[in-house]
Amino acid sequence: MKKRSRRKKRNVVVPIVVLIFCCIFTAMVAYGWNARKKNVKVAASKGAAETVEVNNSETSSEGETTAAPESETAQTVAETTATPESNPGPDEKVVYFTFDDGPWTGTPRLLDILDQYNIKACFFVTAQYMETEPLKNMLKQIKDRGHNVAVHSLTHNYKKIYASVDAFMSDYDAMDDLIFQATGEHSKMLRFPGGSNASYNKAIRPQLLQAVRDRGIVYFDWNSFDGDVEGKKGQELIDQTIKQVNENTHSILLMHDMPSTAFVHDALPTIIERLKADGYKFELLNENTPPRQFAK
Ligand SMILES: [Zn+2]
Repeated sequence: MKKRSRRKKRNVVVPIVVLIFCCIFTAMVAYGWNARKKNVKVAASKGAAETVEVNNSETSSEGETTAAPESETAQTVAETTATPESNPGPDEKVVYFTFDDGPWTGTPRLLDILDQYNIKACFFVTAQYMETEPLKNMLKQIKDRGHNVAVHSLTHNYKKIYASVDAFMSDYDAMDDLIFQATGEHSKMLRFPGGSNASYNKAIRPQLLQAVRDRGIVYFDWNSFDGDVEGKKGQELIDQTIKQVNENTHSILLMHDMPSTAFVHDALPTIIERLKADGYKFELLNENTPPRQFAK
């Protein structure tokens, strides 16, 4: 009787113990799983925060000088910003809009037209048409609206700037200083007034080109031109532009942005529409664009 009752007891206790053990085990597994899920969630949100940080620094570095060391973030930013500057394929029809000699008080109208078509251009600037402070404000506005600001010349006075290599470089530095004060960035791009093969620089040309290269500056001439400073206007200017751009798969188009060529603004929407219809994409000329150089 005693033996039987003990066996009976055991028959009841063993399944209960097993059941309790199972419950504890299940609870532990469930807790462990949840905890792991929570960690993943924390890690994910941490990752998101880091991404935002990278994006922030990218935006904030736009108008400021970054004396930042070669940190991982800086590298990520450099890689991200390098992508849109990658060069187009050899068969891809591309036109780079470039505007010389400005800015002036009429420049905002040009910026509005470019905005309308979401086109970014490179402005090779001078200090001919504006006083220092309004000029700096305008340069900043050009840069802030996504365009590139590069050196053409402070004075655009051929005789003065091409008198010697030193004269040219001090004119270059004075314009570059203004660009730096306005945008926080130095220009690494140049368009020689009159082109790199201008007759005015003949006497000093080899030394001049070498001095520019030694400074790490890339100079750009052009392979198409709207004819604006040669008296082309209206339909004639539009036709010349379309014809010349179409002669090149990669076209660096020279136009002017100054009071005497304000009519270029009127022609621009038609030029853009026609080039789009011809299959051209509009890219921003930058220091990594393969340059067109008349003199080397
Ligand atoms: Zn010029």
